[in-house]
Amino acid sequence: GKGAAMVTAVAYRLTEQARHIQQTLAEFRLSKNQLLEVKKRMKVEIERGLKKDSHKDATVKMLPTFVRSTPDGTENGDFLALDLGGTNFRVLLVKIRSGKRRSVEMHNKIYAIPIEVMQGTGEELFDHIVHCISDFLDYMGMKSARLPLGFTFSFPCHQTSLDAGILVTWTKGFKATDCEGEDVVELLREAIKRKEEFELDVVAIVNDTVGTMMTCAYEEPTCEVGLIAGTGSNACYMEEMKNIEIVPGTEGRMCVNMEWGAFGDNGCLDDIRTTYDQAVDENSLNEGKQRYEKMCSGMYLGEIVRQILIDLTKRGFLFRGQISETLKTRGIFETKFLSQIESDRLALLQVRAILQQLGLDSTCDDSIIVKEVCGTVSRRAAQLCGAGMAAVVDKIRENRRLDHLDVTVGVDGTLYKLHPHFSRIFQQTVKELAPKCDVNFLLSEDGSGKGAALITAVGCRQRELDSL
Ligand code: BGC
Ligand code: MG
Repeated sequence: GKGAAMVTAVAYRLTEQARHIQQTLAEFRLSKNQLLEVKKRMKVEIERGLKKDSHKDATVKMLPTFVRSTPDGTENGDFLALDLGGTNFRVLLVKIRSGKRRSVEMHNKIYAIPIEVMQGTGEELFDHIVHCISDFLDYMGMKSARLPLGFTFSFPCHQTSLDAGILVTWTKGFKATDCEGEDVVELLREAIKRKEEFELDVVAIVNDTVGTMMTCAYEEPTCEVGLIAGTGSNACYMEEMKNIEIVPGTEGRMCVNMEWGAFGDNGCLDDIRTTYDQAVDENSLNEGKQRYEKMCSGMYLGEIVRQILIDLTKRGFLFRGQISETLKTRGIFETKFLSQIESDRLALLQVRAILQQLGLDSTCDDSIIVKEVCGTVSRRAAQLCGAGMAAVVDKIRENRRLDHLDVTVGVDGTLYKLHPHFSRIFQQTVKELAPKCDVNFLLSEDGSGKGAALITAVGCRQRELDSL
């Protein structure tokens, strides 16, 4: 009778709903062929970045770092390190001891960088950094020491030496004025001078990927690649000097900061970018830039999820069709929430509790859908990142004319470390797309700080040799 007809109608609406949702998510589900295509395109962009003729217009910049070798255990001394551009800003004191009982001891303090400072003037930003260094030196009782400093600055920099780096463009949440096109080492030195409280010897500017690679290489000499899957996304690796056409010399190797986050900025990933990816890009501080990073990294995954949820809600498939103020708020789904929502140990009731915490009233069905959306978006991120890494390790293998390559990748980043599935899917993808490589992944402990100190140690030693 009437009841049965109603039940059928409800069931029909549900399957219709499920069909629409699956259709929406289907765009995010990449086939192996699509991923192989991404790997191939990354390879093309790598070559464009390395070659002199195409470097200027290349999107994947392949920036030289002037790091010519991984650590050998003879590094020694006390160093200051700064770590700017990840989840936290930190100042560190790193004591490295060489010899039989080599060791690294670290002290660090985390400082907040208020959003007004991240997006204010360059002078304010660097004054703030120096203010934090001053506080740290007081705290450690080391104001008079004139320590050598390594500056981990996790943004694209055009380096002409170990201690000079011109900021190409800000990424992630930063947008301080008067910094792009400037040498950030000089900006730091000038700010230290303005303060007139202490002296420091800025020896090296270091990308976080390079710091991570160096830290892991200190323990594991086969480590020749660094990966960050965190707030941002990027990789570095040891490239043959003869292939780095913009640096004179053909002997040996140099670490190249790929800046792969900008992959796709020339439109080469447009066929797999969804309307949600476009919306995230349009809402960002750097529209049109870092397109691959916006599909792969912690700062943006939650935003993609939010765009999908808004759309599904508008179409009446979620949250009873009501778009709440929360859902309209940028940045609500931080990596830690996504990680919680996708945790296998969490019952749906707990997923609802998290959504509640975020100010989203959900039904049981809603929570199932939200969890599936999160899973789909983070899986694609891990796979895309894996496709990029497959291109890198295969490039190293081909450089060395090997049928088979064993290599270690040093990894850091909140997404990689906190997310319940990212690392597994990422590793599986690398394995599938680069079958001729055996890749070992090593988590770095405090990669940015320690790595900056190791590079600074090498830089100091080189200086002494140069002055002989
Ligand atoms: C920056 C890279 C950095 C990466 C990870 C990107 O946005 O451009 O320099 O390595 O984030 O922090
Ligand atoms: Mg970091």
